[in-house]
Amino acid sequence: MDSAEYERKIAHRFAAFDQDGNGYIDRADFNAAAARLLTEFGTTARCDRGQSLYTGAEAFWQGMAGIADVDGDQRVTREEFIGGAVKRLRDNPDRFAEIARPFLRAAIAVAAGADPEGAEPASAPVAAVERALRVLGAADDIASVAARSLDTDKDGRIAEAEAVAAFSAYFTVIEPDA
Ligand code: CA
Ligand code: CA
Repeated sequence: MDSAEYERKIAHRFAAFDQDGNGYIDRADFNAAAARLLTEFGTTARCDRGQSLYTGAEAFWQGMAGIADVDGDQRVTREEFIGGAVKRLRDNPDRFAEIARPFLRAAIAVAAGADPEGAEPASAPVAAVERALRVLGAADDIASVAARSLDTDKDGRIAEAEAVAAFSAYFTVIEPDA
């Protein structure tokens, strides 16, 4: 992969986190992601699922900051993202999975909608995940392809383990286009 392609892929991943597009990743981006998901799926911030999503977003931000915010200014710049998030996480993809897991678990529950039995849904329909990706800024065609590819066991739903594995791979493995 040439360096221009690598730069482009890094830029996409950085943009995915920089939800408000102001050029750095901070807590506000994670809160914005949570708020967008709650709005899309008609869930309030006050309910259990809303609370779990915000708690997961905060844990995700803290994990990201712990790995990548080298100068401790509570912002992850593009340079810090490349140096910290991408390089360090590549060497330790399990760490990324763990910091992202509570947010992804909560996001799946929000996307899956209310369960009449009151149990926490462990998976969400592919179409709901596609909506989630779109509201977080993925282009329509990419959201569609990505959501379907997340469903690795092809049962029409995306489980937490599938989301965590795919998410971790996306942000830690930068490979040439197939
Ligand atoms: Ca930002
Ligand atoms: Ca920083």
